[in-house]
Amino acid sequence: MSAHEHPLGISFEFFPPNTDAGRDKLMRTRDALARRQPRFFSVTYGAGGSTQHRTLNTVQAVRESGITTAPHLSCIGSEKAVLRDLLAQYREQGIDSLVALRGDLPSGMGGIGELRYANELVEFIREETGDHFEIAVAAYPESHPQAPSLDRDVENFARKMKAGANLAITQYFFTADAYFHFVERARVLGVEAPIVPGIMPITNYTKLARFSDACGAEIPRWIRKQLEAYGDDSQAIADFGEDVISRLCQRLLDGGAPGLHFYTLNQAEPTLKVLDNIRA
Ligand code: FAD
Repeated sequence: MSAHEHPLGISFEFFPPNTDAGRDKLMRTRDALARRQPRFFSVTYGAGGSTQHRTLNTVQAVRESGITTAPHLSCIGSEKAVLRDLLAQYREQGIDSLVALRGDLPSGMGGIGELRYANELVEFIREETGDHFEIAVAAYPESHPQAPSLDRDVENFARKMKAGANLAITQYFFTADAYFHFVERARVLGVEAPIVPGIMPITNYTKLARFSDACGAEIPRWIRKQLEAYGDDSQAIADFGEDVISRLCQRLLDGGAPGLHFYTLNQAEPTLKVLDNIRA
């Protein structure tokens, strides 16, 4: 069986492009990845609604591929009335999957809003729209950076699942055991829904290091050292990254992960290379 025939299957995440060239590139990426028959695509959202229109426009363009496309939706900095309107708009457009997040407030941007945490957003979506949406939420195998401990974070995660989420997608990580440990802890707390590992292909060390510091994902020393040593040699970085990420995906699937969610950064090739290397 190949990766795309896996029972839960694979999914691919995009961000809303800023420019016409970015949009054209995303459409080519969408077409290349659609051929792998993903379970869904998803499109990120700026906290406080800062990309609301671009997210919706991108979702509409991406779903012309015929593949279910889930907008991400964050609650921090938004009033309930605004979220209610957005949910109604999504329903009218025939959208039936969401990735529900708290999000992060950009510095200098107004108040927290009426919903403080993602569990409150999930509850709100269920109150407002019943079972219309399939809801995915975020999980953090290496702990969310603001959580006081992994224990507290897993408890908060379980609360969010029990509020009515259907599945979880993890922050990316490079240590398979962090994922297996997190899943075990969540199961002990009664979470039964699939927890899908989020996978970040490695293509650019500087960007990866910046991202990872911001979101609390640890790049193991041996990976960091090797990537630093490659300097500007982007081919060497891509080859090494492909090997490391393919092995990680294989370990995750062999260990029972119910699928893979790729943070594509709107590029097809690094993800396709990894998929070609793995057996589900
Ligand atoms: P929450 O689940 O609310 O958790 C946030 C923090 O609060 C954690 O430390 C948690 O332990 C704690 N907590 C949770 N509930 C409670 C509670 N009831 N009481 C006390 N403490 C609590 N960001 C974007 O801006 N746009 C995106 O499109 C986007 N997509 C993402 C997709 C995935 C798959 C992932 C993993 C992350 C994504 N993010 C995105 C980043 C995310 O918004 C940030 O990590 C944010 O800081 C937390 O969002 P959350 O939904 O995980 O928050």
